[in-house]
Amino acid sequence: MALKIAVIGAGFAGLGTAYYLSKTGHQVTVFEKDSQPGGLAVGFKNSKWSWPLEKHYHHLFTSDTAIKSLADEISHPIDFYRPKTSTFIDDQIAQLDSPFSLLKFPQLSLPDRLRTAFGLALMRFNPVYKPFEWFTAKKYITTLMGQASWQKLWEPLFIGKFHDYADQISAVWFYGRIRPRSASLGYPRGGFLSLAESIQSAAKKNGANFIYNKSINNISELSKFDKIVCTLPTALFSKISGLHYPPLPGLGAVNLVLALKKQFLTDGTYWLNINDRNIPFVCVTEHTNFIDPSHYAGDHLVYVGNYLPKEHKYYTYSNTKLLEEFLPFLQRINPNFEKSWISRSWLWTTPFAQPVVLLNHYVPPLTTSIPNVYLVNIQQVYPWDRGTNGAIELSRKVTELIC
Ligand SMILES: Cc1cc2nc3c(=O)[nH]c(=O)nc-3n(C[C@H](O)[C@H](O)[C@H](O)COP(=O)(O)OP(=O)(O)OC[C@H]3O[C@@H](n4cnc5c(N)ncnc54)[C@H](O)[C@@H]3O)c2cc1C
Repeated sequence: MALKIAVIGAGFAGLGTAYYLSKTGHQVTVFEKDSQPGGLAVGFKNSKWSWPLEKHYHHLFTSDTAIKSLADEISHPIDFYRPKTSTFIDDQIAQLDSPFSLLKFPQLSLPDRLRTAFGLALMRFNPVYKPFEWFTAKKYITTLMGQASWQKLWEPLFIGKFHDYADQISAVWFYGRIRPRSASLGYPRGGFLSLAESIQSAAKKNGANFIYNKSINNISELSKFDKIVCTLPTALFSKISGLHYPPLPGLGAVNLVLALKKQFLTDGTYWLNINDRNIPFVCVTEHTNFIDPSHYAGDHLVYVGNYLPKEHKYYTYSNTKLLEEFLPFLQRINPNFEKSWISRSWLWTTPFAQPVVLLNHYVPPLTTSIPNVYLVNIQQVYPWDRGTNGAIELSRKVTELIC
């Protein structure tokens, strides 16, 4: 019998849920507070560009099988490339994206490079995540890779990303970042917004209905539905359902996006980790060193990224104020860089971008204590780090649970 099912949110979890449930013949209605699909992976478009750009940098790994198989099923191509990842350390850019580049990495001694490679390999080739729940990432790294590796390579990134939580992050979060990582990175043709629109079209063909600019403030608004699938972060779900969950810490994101007349990372680096904590951002990501600038009318697109607690002052800044603050640091990375290179800038913020995974981490279940109400969200992708692939994987799981 076809059930009437409401889905709250048209991010990748909501889109996947709408697609899979409508495919099995259920009558699905999606409610989304924004005006378009995509959620955290949504894009924006300058009038000259042929492709939209994500507000926050996004790519896929070759191990992201759930989203790849959905994209295949609906004939939306995902292209894979081998862009360069590097680290800004001691005022130099050093490539660091393969065992070979690690073995050449000048900022660590040879024994420390070998220990670091061993600690990473133990995560890469181990299919079992459970033992990593017993200790922190710091403990794992200092014990296996050594103090120098922690202090030079990892600690600046943990502080940059997790701030006061840096020493307490579970080793399982680190495992979830290292194990699925691939050197080749994928990007949906036309961008993540275009893939989101393709999933929406496929769900619509199955009879799903999408209602945009509609915020659900209480699940009682959906009482005419047989089942409800909520894809909001747990704290928001608590608000609209009245259910209580243990506190789940998280951080927001602040991304300054620059459209430049010239290439910024001239060695071709796509992803630059910033290992210097005197610099007030954690990564510089040159999207057009990954995806051809011809899709963006020749603009060179650069993200200057940060994960921050929601009370941080940068959430109150304008793009021009943040740019003024970042300018001297961008010039340290590329001494030739001038303000005149910038043709446009945007500032995108989101209050919830990154779950903080500590020891004894609590993962909310898909079922809730309200019958026929399900929760599918970014905090359940565990042991993997959050991502669009995890969102699609969970949407398949909740569909199996309902059908
Ligand atoms: C800076 C950054 C970088 C990232 N990098 C990557 C990456 O490289 N690769 C990758 O795969 N993933 C990446 N991610 C993560 C990825 O974007 C998310 O994991 C994924 O998009 C989450 O999808 P979701 O559907 O679970 O949640 P969301 O995308 O948050 O979707 C929830 C939806 O619900 C809507 N909503 C909220 N409240 C209401 C309401 N009351 N009523 C109705 N609708 C509501 C929201 O508008 C939103 O559209 C990144 C995220 C960020 C922030």
